[in-house]
Amino acid sequence: MLKIKQFAFSDFGVNTYLLIDEETRQAAVVDPAMSSESEQKRFDAYVADNDIKITQIINTHLHLDHCFGMDYVKNAYGAPLKAHPGEAAVAAMMQQQYSMFGIRRPAPKVVIDVDLKDGDVIKIGHSSVEVIHVPGHSPGGICLYYKEGNVVLVGDSLFRRSIGRTDLYGSHEQLVGAIRSRLFALPDHTLVLSGHGPSTTIGEEKVGNPFV
Ligand SMILES: [Zn+2]
Ligand SMILES: [Zn+2]
Repeated sequence: MLKIKQFAFSDFGVNTYLLIDEETRQAAVVDPAMSSESEQKRFDAYVADNDIKITQIINTHLHLDHCFGMDYVKNAYGAPLKAHPGEAAVAAMMQQQYSMFGIRRPAPKVVIDVDLKDGDVIKIGHSSVEVIHVPGHSPGGICLYYKEGNVVLVGDSLFRRSIGRTDLYGSHEQLVGAIRSRLFALPDHTLVLSGHGPSTTIGEEKVGNPFV
């Protein structure tokens, strides 16, 4: 079974998740966004206190805010980054993304080590999650479906009563289409964990989301 630990990091309020296989203590970091020494320390303390071994980084997409802690986690834990190849072009625009948000410091170089595609099953210890390609917020956006736990990590595709912005290499039509055809195909009781803000469920959003 996976235990899911949520952190909120940076001024962007990004939800970084740890997917921890309870049997082996192996874990994946999803969207590492720690952006200060105190946030790094908070993360490291949790990892050490819970005897966790980080074996991989999985990114739902490569917008700047979801990559603030990428270098730190790669260097501290030696974990490879897995993401959809559709995000390579987004990562290549990292400096432009920084400029757009008025961030003056040099942007890190983000490199995908392992390509993920729709339908891939990612092993985390003895547990696994499935990759669902949900383009539109960004071209290679993915969601991670943990079927046994009735949970889906959706990145910035879907929020409680909202959806992701589509002005950063995205497409509104594509996003709404992918939410309807892929995410709303999941069971209603599936817990939705987003890249920012509170959780929701598929059933609640089917009924109450004004954008889909
Ligand atoms: Zn985003
Ligand atoms: Zn975001």
